[in-house]
Amino acid sequence: MNPLTSPRYLKELLSRHGFNFSRSLGQNFLIDENILQKIIKGAAVTREDVILEIGPGVGTLTAALAGQAERVVAVEIDRSLLPILEETLGDFDNVKVIHGDILKLDLDLLLRDALGGRPFKIVANLPYYITTPIIMRFLEEERPYTSITVMIQKEVAERMAAGPGSKDYGALSVAVQFYTRPRLIGRVPSGVFMPPPKVDSMIITLERRSRPAVEVKSTAMFFKVVKAVFAQRRKTLLNTLSAAGVSPLGKAALGESLSGIGIDPVRRGETLTLEELAAISNLITHQSPTA
Ligand code: SAM
Repeated sequence: MNPLTSPRYLKELLSRHGFNFSRSLGQNFLIDENILQKIIKGAAVTREDVILEIGPGVGTLTAALAGQAERVVAVEIDRSLLPILEETLGDFDNVKVIHGDILKLDLDLLLRDALGGRPFKIVANLPYYITTPIIMRFLEEERPYTSITVMIQKEVAERMAAGPGSKDYGALSVAVQFYTRPRLIGRVPSGVFMPPPKVDSMIITLERRSRPAVEVKSTAMFFKVVKAVFAQRRKTLLNTLSAAGVSPLGKAALGESLSGIGIDPVRRGETLTLEELAAISNLITHQSPTA
């Protein structure tokens, strides 16, 4: 049992170091052993794994990971947590704590020097205010992660895993599913954190795909189409695409070309599968003069 999941122990530790929680940094520390084990199990951590943890806090998850993995590199933005981490993780010789902002760090350097250029797993109880930018950074830059197992706001996890036709399906679902296979591991009540956040959480694993889910001629055009289609969910596909000006064709010709590939121009974007979105983006790439 990890003593850091004991609220009494944690309170004593924090007050001894004069630590004050920062709401703006999304500091909600985990105080539940079962959830801790659920995250580790969800990430399927083994002795061969190199782990990147974002936001170790007082080191609760870090210590549990260090006991199962080969090596853990943890990036923490809050300088006032560093002396606490020194105390809680001092006995582990396979943990490296780096002080920095994960959104601003030179990832090339981090991955090369701290992670030894090896493929790695991301495991974290993420600060909610930057969940999407952090995850999208690793996905879009196609960094050599093999999986991402994170505890995030429940609604965001549900959006990542949602399929066509559901109210949660949107640009985030498509982007995440383009690069990974999402798997919801389980819901987490707010009472397992100190202090409790205002929202419920979810553990989700994003398994990296060896190649994107669908073949696109231009990734930039694919995401332009996705952005246009989901920007105005209630409009028809043809209206959103022509309003966004993604195709050089006039509205009528664009409508005809969509019908030509078997996609009804009056459909709503939220019903389109990744395959259909790829077909539309490939069609428009083909129509564009620079293609
Ligand atoms: N891992 C700990 C746990 O499970 O108890 C703490 C999780 S807490 C939700 C999020 C942690 O991320 C905090 O320690 C916070 O200071 C840190 N953090 C916030 N923004 C960050 C950033 N941009 N880069 C690195 N760490 C960040």
